[in-house]
Amino acid sequence: MVSVETFIGEYPICQYAVCKAREIPFSEKVRHICRTECERYGKSWSCPPAVGEVNECRKRCLEYENALVFTTAAQVSDASVLAETLATRPEHEAVTRALCRELEKQGAECLALSSESCQICETCAYPQPCRFPGKAIPCIESYGILVTQIAERYGIEFYSDIHTVTWFGLIFFREEKRL
Ligand code: SF4
Repeated sequence: MVSVETFIGEYPICQYAVCKAREIPFSEKVRHICRTECERYGKSWSCPPAVGEVNECRKRCLEYENALVFTTAAQVSDASVLAETLATRPEHEAVTRALCRELEKQGAECLALSSESCQICETCAYPQPCRFPGKAIPCIESYGILVTQIAERYGIEFYSDIHTVTWFGLIFFREEKRL
């Protein structure tokens, strides 16, 4: 049986919770915000519309039974400066991938999501094929997931101070591999 507790303490995780995938809240309202307020909309494989409709994303997530919600933190001079904030995403992604590897070592299959859009390439190849499909991690909000609601529900701090970026990660996992 998969046990997150056996490895989570080895990583720089601020807070975490394990829940059932069906408890994760999805909403079309999040997609509306992507469409009307985010400059990454239509520019990345990790964002809409490339990730599919919200109901498709939800269905994809619910193929996994469990979800690991977690945060990491990075220190910056000003968290309101997007470029400075985004520069710290690779470290969070590295932790996310490492957690997936730990889960996979225990026999699980994973689907990882992360805060913000994928930053692996300086300019995303979209709509040309993704250059690193095995490495790119879609944005949590791009799936229509209400991150603030998850944070409230599990008592996870969303904001610390102006010098701290809090990164959210969400890994759906199932214990039995499907053929
Ligand atoms: S790996 Fe590159 S091409 Fe693929 S989603 Fe990320 S930025 Fe875009």
